[in-house]
Amino acid sequence: MPIYEYRCKRCDGEFNTLIIRSGDELRIRCKMCGSTELTRLLSRFSYHQSEESRLAEFDTRKSRDDTFYKDSRNVGLWAKKRAKDLGVDLGPKFDEVVDRARTGKILEDYEK
Ligand SMILES: [Zn+2]
Repeated sequence: MPIYEYRCKRCDGEFNTLIIRSGDELRIRCKMCGSTELTRLLSRFSYHQSEESRLAEFDTRKSRDDTFYKDSRNVGLWAKKRAKDLGVDLGPKFDEVVDRARTGKILEDYEK
């Protein structure tokens, strides 16, 4: 589910909202003044998503560039998503491994 960011043309307020169905966008009103004159801000992607929604949107078939992997929050996401797709139970140890990956400790281990 995408989260879109909008700017109100009347009061200049910015807010983001979750679009569940495509028709939802037609009913969006400014959260500050109620105006329907809104501009969708396409360039920015919301970083306020939970891991659950990041996981849901994550497409393991797409190739990722370097910037993706430089974002430490994405470390482990791929593996988690793949495991979920395959119905694999990663067990409690997996989160520990992901945490190690996020802090860069796994890379240090490999570089030795
Ligand atoms: Zn407004």
